Amino acid sequence: MSLARYACNPAQSRGRRYCEPAAPTRTDYQRDRDRIVHSTAFRRLVYKTQVFLNHEGDLFRTRLTHSLEVAQLGRSIARALALNEDLVEAIALAHDLGHTPFGHAGQDVLNACMAAHGGFEHNLQSLRVVDALEERYPQFDGLNLAFETREGILKHCSRANAEQLESISPVHPDGRGDVGQRFLDRTQPSLEAQLCNLADEIAYNAHDIDDGVRSGLITLDQLQAVPLVAHFYQQTLAEHPQLQGRRVLFETIRRMLSAQVYDVIAATQAALQAAQPDSADAARLCGPLLCFSPDMRAQSQVLKQFLMKNLYRHPQVMDMTTRAQSLLHALFAAYIAAPHEMPPGFAARAAADGPRTVADYIAGMTDRFAAREHERLTGRKLWN
Ligand code: MG
Repeated sequence: MSLARYACNPAQSRGRRYCEPAAPTRTDYQRDRDRIVHSTAFRRLVYKTQVFLNHEGDLFRTRLTHSLEVAQLGRSIARALALNEDLVEAIALAHDLGHTPFGHAGQDVLNACMAAHGGFEHNLQSLRVVDALEERYPQFDGLNLAFETREGILKHCSRANAEQLESISPVHPDGRGDVGQRFLDRTQPSLEAQLCNLADEIAYNAHDIDDGVRSGLITLDQLQAVPLVAHFYQQTLAEHPQLQGRRVLFETIRRMLSAQVYDVIAATQAALQAAQPDSADAARLCGPLLCFSPDMRAQSQVLKQFLMKNLYRHPQVMDMTTRAQSLLHALFAAYIAAPHEMPPGFAARAAADGPRTVADYIAGMTDRFAAREHERLTGRKLWN
């Protein structure tokens, strides 16, 4: 793989928090990707909600299939831009590791429960999973990933959280601070990290249309109000007048995805041409370089607003959200009152910091495990 001069090069990585000898056959980013795939948190993604509850149907996206789609889109764009595909893959596969059960509903509850104890934020939790919570290695907690992978995982961070993160991070020998520093300096992450953010957005906009139509909560007719969808729908029918059923939807989505991928590649090439960064670090000091064209950005925004109004706030999705929230509130209270109901490792940690330990434990749960624990501890059943 030949890398552009603005790509992250593993030979120039800012390294791991604990020094380790290089792997004989893999670069640092390939090794990070492998560590993520073998982690416990990664396997749990298969039973975590993206939009639809895991038990609502076998064909809906879960956090795992979403992450795989982000990796696929990210890698194909990375290849065209000569960015580091392995780093993109590692970041994409890890980007949602900190998500709670029941999607965003879960994050809002934990944030409310943790209001007096530093809050809860899923991005920060993803970093916490790879830095501290995974228990797999004899020498350290977490997965000990390279700086660039961790930088990509922490995609947003408040100033307060960034300050907190920097205050507890070991001082890097080059004095440049850790992954929170860029939020204080207001600089960009690597181009590979920027790419994963955009690939995330492209992936969920497309798969939420697919899942939304499959679930019957939105229809292709309604989607005609979204120019990006209507355009490729019309194009599909014009070229294949006989096409019917799901294939019309799939072909529409496929064309929409391709158009966005090619748009990102062209717009980013133009931005790189204008900014001329001659290294990965120089690219971090430019504004955001990974981008849609202004027209595609506007079209993507209209699609997002459509999904927000018609899918994410659909009464049936809201009903699931309300039930999930009440379940997690009850679960949080139950463990705070009786920390010994958690496994021994968590119960022991709870003596020093109860709320954070409970938040970590709940955040790691799959949807179905959380529902079972809720039933066990409260005797109430919120789902069949
Ligand atoms: Mg995501």
